[in-house]
Amino acid sequence: MDLTKKYNANPDLTALAQSDKLQLLYRQSFPAIFISLFNASLLTILLWPAQDHRILLTWFGILAVTSTARMILFIRYKKAAPEASDVLRWEKPFFITLILSSLVWGVGCVLIMPPDSLVHQAVIFYFLIGMSGGAISVYSAHRTMTLATIAAVLLPITGYSLIQGEFIFVLTAIGAIVFFLSAIHATKLLGLAMHQNFLMTHQLKLSKEKAERLARIDDLTGLFNRRAFYEYGEILANSSQRSKNELAMILMDIDNFKAINDRYGHAAGDAALKQIGQILLKRLRKSDIYARIGGEEFGMLLPLTSLEKAAQLAEELRQVIASTPVSYENDSFTITASFGVTSDTCNIDALVRQADLAMYQSKDSGRNTVVCNK
Ligand code: GH3
Ligand code: MG
Ligand code: MG
Repeated sequence: MDLTKKYNANPDLTALAQSDKLQLLYRQSFPAIFISLFNASLLTILLWPAQDHRILLTWFGILAVTSTARMILFIRYKKAAPEASDVLRWEKPFFITLILSSLVWGVGCVLIMPPDSLVHQAVIFYFLIGMSGGAISVYSAHRTMTLATIAAVLLPITGYSLIQGEFIFVLTAIGAIVFFLSAIHATKLLGLAMHQNFLMTHQLKLSKEKAERLARIDDLTGLFNRRAFYEYGEILANSSQRSKNELAMILMDIDNFKAINDRYGHAAGDAALKQIGQILLKRLRKSDIYARIGGEEFGMLLPLTSLEKAAQLAEELRQVIASTPVSYENDSFTITASFGVTSDTCNIDALVRQADLAMYQSKDSGRNTVVCNK
């Protein structure tokens, strides 16, 4: 079972944090569409006595169109339920429809402003400041989105006020500019805090996966360890039992390994174990589960494999091991191993017992042989 690839994949954590932020934006800002429409209705009612009705209705109609576009986008996003890696594709349409809506507010409000009524102009300013403040809380997960929204909502009327040149307009425009500058500062801190929060969540998840992987890997050979063998083996044995498929097991134990350690040293023994690990990695299939389950003992589980096929593989392994000398420093030596093979539809413990029995028969019959448990 090749889980190493999955765990070794080094995901782009920044991209994952970005998609988290976008997911939050989508979740958080759906109600904002209705709030925007509700506010637009209020403003239309407030301006009704002071502005041409056709102008007001046209403005409201355009806002309704952009709001509908945003709603359709949200519904499509919800239906698509994109994976984390796909979420970023939904950023552009979100941005475009949001900016369009914001411009309808920002530019539209300048166009629907009754030129002769200071009260109504103040009311419009009040609404735009309110919408900008709302943008900070709703879109704070995405700084560019927040600032672009505030700019689209607030800057047209600020420019308009400055052009007017009158004292009261200039002061209001300065107020709006100060608000915009403070928003730049506030969103920077908020955005950074949120980004770090999401980044940390992914770093923790990755560390946990790494720790889990390390807890199942044998340091020396890089193969699974005993714990992983029994954990994954149990799953495999259970599913083989359910589907009544044969599951074969090979148990392999190096012969006279103590003598090898004594003669060439423990480090040379380690080199031999590593070499066996490489041989197994080369010979076994991805669907097999193989591990170092003891000091010099290796277990292999082969799904959908008959006793004959498993015995053939064990014989191949026996020959490869016996004919591949281990080189360590200035020494070169050969090792052999004894094999016990079994195939059954039973639980993992019974399978190991049967294979163990066969392996000990192999030891009894002089080692460096393959014995099948029939
Ligand atoms: P047999 O043919 O009956 O299996 O004899 P054996 O010497 O292989 O069996 P025994 O169980 O007596 O000895 C196993 C040896 O394996 C003892 C131990 O020092 C060695 N061993 C266990 N784990 C490691 C390891 O990680 N590295 C090294 N170098 N040796 C190990
Ligand atoms: Mg041994
Ligand atoms: Mg042993």
